[in-house]
Amino acid sequence: MSFTDEVKQELIHRECEWDCCARAEIAAAILLSGGLSFRGAGRYGISINLSRPAASRYYFSLIKKYLGMTTGIRTHGYKRLGERTQVELSFSDEDVPGAMEILKLHDESALFGIAAHPSAEIIKNPCCKTAFLKSAFLITGSVSSPEREYSLTMSVSSPEAAQCLCDTCAKKGLNARISTNRQKYVVYIKSAEGVGSFLTLTGANAARLRLENVRIMKDIKNGTNRQTNCDSNNIERTVKSAGQQLADIRFLAEATKGEGLPAWMREMMSLRLENPDSSLTELGELCDPPIGKSGVNNRLRRISEMAAKLRADAQPVK
Ligand SMILES: [Zn+2]
Repeated sequence: MSFTDEVKQELIHRECEWDCCARAEIAAAILLSGGLSFRGAGRYGISINLSRPAASRYYFSLIKKYLGMTTGIRTHGYKRLGERTQVELSFSDEDVPGAMEILKLHDESALFGIAAHPSAEIIKNPCCKTAFLKSAFLITGSVSSPEREYSLTMSVSSPEAAQCLCDTCAKKGLNARISTNRQKYVVYIKSAEGVGSFLTLTGANAARLRLENVRIMKDIKNGTNRQTNCDSNNIERTVKSAGQQLADIRFLAEATKGEGLPAWMREMMSLRLENPDSSLTELGELCDPPIGKSGVNNRLRRISEMAAKLRADAQPVK
C-alpha cells in the first residue's frame, strides 16, 4: 500500500464530529472533484467523483448521515490493466436544490454559477477549515513515502481552488505553495515539518508517527555519515602527520646518528619507523613500559621540535 493510501485509509476512518464540518467536507468533495455541473435553465447536477471505492463509502455515509440524502453509486470501470475504477456518487434530481442551498455551492460571480471551491461561509469555522483540507486531500491529494522525500500535493483544476487551499493552509500555519503542471494547479508542501503538521491536523496520526520514525532513522543515518566523514578526516590528518613525523625522525636519525638523544626518544623514533601505520595508542602499547596516547603524542611532538631546531641550525647563515 502506498503512503498516500495509508493516509487516506486513516482519514476515512476518522469520524466527522460536527454538522458544520460535514458540510465543509461534502462541499469540498463535490467542488474539487468537478462534481457540480450546469444543465441549463437554472438546473444543476451534483456528484462526487472518486478514484477510491473506500472513499466513496465514506462520503456516501457522510451525506446520508448529515444531509439525510441517499446518493446513487455508479462505477466507471475500464477493464484494461492498471486503471483504477472510478466511482461516482450522484445526488438525485430532487435533492440537488436542497444540497446546493445547504452546501452553498452556487457562486453568483462564477461562470454558470459553479463555485470553484467551498464558499467562505462553509469553511468559516477553524474546525471546518481543517475538514476542508482533509476532504481536499482525500479527493485530490498525494503524499510521497517519507523514505523517499517529504512531499504532499493536492492537484486541482482551477487557480481559485488552488489559492483557496493555499490560503486555508496558511491560516492553519502550514506553508503551502502553488505550481502548475499540465493544466493542473498543484498545491504542495515540501518539508518534513509541513507534511507532518498536515497529517496531524487532518487526523492521520499513525501516518504522522510513521513519518517521524523514518525521519529519526534518517537523522541517525546522516549522523553516522557525519561521524564516518569525521573519522576519515581524522585518519587523513593522522596519515599526514605520520608522514611529517617519519620525515622528522629520518632527518633526526641522520643528523645525530642517535647520539645525544634520550632513550625514550630513540625508542619512539625506532617504533615509529618500524610501525608507520600504527595509531598513537598502538605505538604507546609498544613502548616499554607502555604509555598512553597523549604520552606518545607528546614524545612525537618533541621529536619534531628537535628536528625543526636542528634543521634551523643547519641552514646556512646568509
Ligand atoms: Zn466545523
